[in-house]
Amino acid sequence: MVSTKAVVCVFIFAIWVSFAHASDLAIEFTEQEKAYLQTAAPIKMCVDPDWVPFERINNQGQHEGIAADLVQLVTQRVGLKIEIYPVKTWDESLAASRSKHCQLLSFINQTPVRDEWLIYTEPTFYDTNIIVTREEHPFVADLHALKGKSVAIPHGTMIEERIRRDYPNLEVILADSESAASLLVSERKADLMIRSLIVAAYAIKKEGLFNLKIAGQVPEYTNNLRIGVLKDEKILRDILDKGVKTITPQEREAIANKHVLVIAQKGIDYSLVWKILAVLALVLLVSGYWIRKLNALNKKLERLSITDKLTGVFNRVKFDAVLETEIQRSVRFQHPFSVIMLDIDHFKQVNDIHGHQAGDAVLTEIARLLQANTRETDILGRWGGEEFIIICPQTDINGALGLAKNLCRIINEHNFPIVQHKTASFGVTAYQPGDHAESLVARADAALYQAKHNGRNQVKTWPSHE
Ligand code: GH3
Ligand code: MG
Ligand code: MG
Repeated sequence: MVSTKAVVCVFIFAIWVSFAHASDLAIEFTEQEKAYLQTAAPIKMCVDPDWVPFERINNQGQHEGIAADLVQLVTQRVGLKIEIYPVKTWDESLAASRSKHCQLLSFINQTPVRDEWLIYTEPTFYDTNIIVTREEHPFVADLHALKGKSVAIPHGTMIEERIRRDYPNLEVILADSESAASLLVSERKADLMIRSLIVAAYAIKKEGLFNLKIAGQVPEYTNNLRIGVLKDEKILRDILDKGVKTITPQEREAIANKHVLVIAQKGIDYSLVWKILAVLALVLLVSGYWIRKLNALNKKLERLSITDKLTGVFNRVKFDAVLETEIQRSVRFQHPFSVIMLDIDHFKQVNDIHGHQAGDAVLTEIARLLQANTRETDILGRWGGEEFIIICPQTDINGALGLAKNLCRIINEHNFPIVQHKTASFGVTAYQPGDHAESLVARADAALYQAKHNGRNQVKTWPSHE
């Protein structure tokens, strides 16, 4: 049993952990800062309304994204209230900040131009800048090496300021927004753009510009994103900076992952979809091929299992089954049907005189003659060594007798290879109500015996029909 002591220990440990954490976060403010915090009205903050996944103003006018979560963490810890200054564009935010309508800019790179009116906290977030080009462009190791290439840049950004200063070899094409800039590259109106890795990963998927790729990075252009504060609000900056310093790497990572994971779910990786479809198609093709091959093999196997190897007519197993079916059909539909059994006369002599192969040739030739001179609906089978049997559906005893006599004559008149002349004896019988396979075959056999007994090369019926 878990002892009460253990439970108490865990409880005390939990309290200790929470106190330890609280003391970590305990921020020491100066008297001046404390006084500021006590009297501070909600702080007005300008943000980029359209810089997903870093930040945006949603349809309800709320600030959301990585920057929003970071600023919220900082301001909660220092005990400040924030109000979002509503704008439609990033330019409006910059202008509002310059004209002191808002005290903070939520998420901004430090630049010489911005230094004119802003001071900053330590960075709340770091993000690499990367080069985005069309798929056909080679990897870009150094932007200095690119001559006569154009770079699309949203105006008013840190990148614009720095590219103009650091890379006079590049032609700058200004765009209204980051997505407009990437569209310029995608549509071949500019060669490349420089963009935050996180934003690029999100935007390429969201905008469906799959002809774009990441072709290199600009290490010296890492975004050190900070909270920008109006120059004359130094106390506010110092207070915020103390809050920024409490952000742990784990917290930063959790916030980034929260929004980057949303990105991963929003975009569909079409290349993966195509790969999966290609693999599926291949599997279907291969399995289709095998299914067809197996079907063909199965059919062949089935054919082999029901045919006599030497003559190609039905074998005994198949013939038994066909005879059963024919009896059932006759019972059900009152159709007449007859059976002819024939046995080659003195066949043993063929083997004895000419050899087994000559015997085989005679068997094959007789099967061919029988097949050729019966109806398509008649069913021919090899009953035994040199015995054949024919089912004649919808045929009464007279019809079967006529057919047997005809076959007897054809064989008698046929010129066989090697042996030249051969005859056969025939026994014929018709289905009678109450018959089963054995009784029917027994009567045909009896008729055949009669034909043999009577001198061979003739047809007999059972019961006798003459
Ligand atoms: P009967 O006129 O009384 O029918 O005389 P028969 O010689 O035809 O009859 P028997 O039953 O004495 O001999 C049948 C022979 O058929 C014996 C056997 O070796 C031969 N035979 C059976 N099956 C085959 C076969 O597949 N190939 C060959 N070559 N001969 C076979
Ligand atoms: Mg025989
Ligand atoms: Mg025989």
